[in-house]
Amino acid sequence: MYETRDPWTGAVHRQPTHSDADIDTRLGAAAAAFPAWAALPLQARGAHLHAIAAALKAQRRELAALITAEMGKLTKEALAEIDKCAVACAFYADNAGRWLDDEPVATDAKRSYVRYEPIGCVLAIMPWNFPFWQVFRFLAPALMAGNVAVLKHAVNVPRCADAIAAVLAAAGLPAGVFGVLHIDNEQAARVIADRRVAAVTLTGSERAGRSVAATAGAHLKKCVMELGGSDPFVVLADADLDATIPVAVASRFGNAGQTCIAAKRFIVVDAIAGEFTRRFVEAAAALRTGDPRETSTGLAPMARPDLRDQLQRQVDASAAKGARVLLGGAPGDGATGYPATVLADTAPGMPAWDEELFGPVASIVRVADEDAAVQVANDTPYGLGASVWTRDPARGEALARRIAAGACFVNAIVRSDVRLPFGGTKISGFGRELAGHGIHEFMNIKSVWVD
Ligand code: NAP
Repeated sequence: MYETRDPWTGAVHRQPTHSDADIDTRLGAAAAAFPAWAALPLQARGAHLHAIAAALKAQRRELAALITAEMGKLTKEALAEIDKCAVACAFYADNAGRWLDDEPVATDAKRSYVRYEPIGCVLAIMPWNFPFWQVFRFLAPALMAGNVAVLKHAVNVPRCADAIAAVLAAAGLPAGVFGVLHIDNEQAARVIADRRVAAVTLTGSERAGRSVAATAGAHLKKCVMELGGSDPFVVLADADLDATIPVAVASRFGNAGQTCIAAKRFIVVDAIAGEFTRRFVEAAAALRTGDPRETSTGLAPMARPDLRDQLQRQVDASAAKGARVLLGGAPGDGATGYPATVLADTAPGMPAWDEELFGPVASIVRVADEDAAVQVANDTPYGLGASVWTRDPARGEALARRIAAGACFVNAIVRSDVRLPFGGTKISGFGRELAGHGIHEFMNIKSVWVD
């Protein structure tokens, strides 16, 4: 048993945990469910996914309220998250076939082809920042592939995990196809080792990635790592600031800054840096912090007090090394509130430059020109997303191609889109989710040769 707290109201929830015997029951159920689920025609699995999408839509208000109660997300953002999950389920239900059909290949054989086969039960270890979306981003393709799954969710969102299981069960998913494990990290390591688990996917921090990938490696289990980021947001001298500033603010301060692909480092060419900084600080200062359930609140509280403390340590250490605090910089209301914060003059050696700042803190870096912007954009161990802002899309595209990241957007906010693969390079992880690339990650890609 452990306690979680509503980040805004402080309301306590007591969460029972699972014993090793409970784990055994759930892994047994997954193993028992796999053959029949894998053998279902694709259309039948698709019908289940459509039923799940409908259930998510029907319960969007209750589910969104649960997200807000557990990790403090603004109601409107929580509703959008549920809607995105429904879209992903419907998308994979309608499109999985084109990535799962046998692919004929011309060889010396009479007939040869590539066949995609499910591999069994995948353990999903997921973070709290998008407690529904991160799960469905993995789960929708995994289910269509014919795999089954067990979920170990972050410690502060246990009721979201149970709600996902309830939605799936109510939508008619057969027992055992999806299970929830309320377990600690040591138990998770034993689950990875279990012969009934074929692979593991983790979305979370670099620290968790190193640990889970090491365990998966020790047991030769396939893993996908979706880890942290420190995305550059590059503003060129010809950028249209009327269009750029609102996106810059939304990208950094949405979800209280707790988004892997949030813009975290604003790299601005000298000629426009003064005006960008003034307008960005002005817009950030207008964000009202407060109750995430109030429509007038523009910046949600952070999810947990320990996460706010960690952010404050990073801000203080950056300031101690010479970063200027242009806005905010100290804890706000309640146990987890943190105001929009803007740092300038950040440099290598500061946490704001070298590490991920997972909260509402923006760093502005002034650079001489485009080449310097690329150099700074790439001067990070992370490589998740990046964006470039300019009135000249061709120039922006040329620059985006020089940035080492899993996704580069020109004149658009970095976001995940079911039609495009999502994932990182460098210490932001490996493997891909979404699109066809995501569905193939946890499949046996089998060559068949017939003479
Ligand atoms: P976290 O502390 O790493 O936790 C993520 C998940 O990993 C949780 O379920 C956590 O469980 C589990 N975990 C941590 N250490 C583990 C271990 N040694 N063995 C097994 N499981 C372990 O991350 P978070 O604070 O929830 O999420 C924020 C991080 O996730 C940020 O770095 C963010 O950038 C990243 N993220 C990445 C993406 C992406 O797509 N690339 C998306 C969203 C978030 P407990 O809670 O029980 O510790």
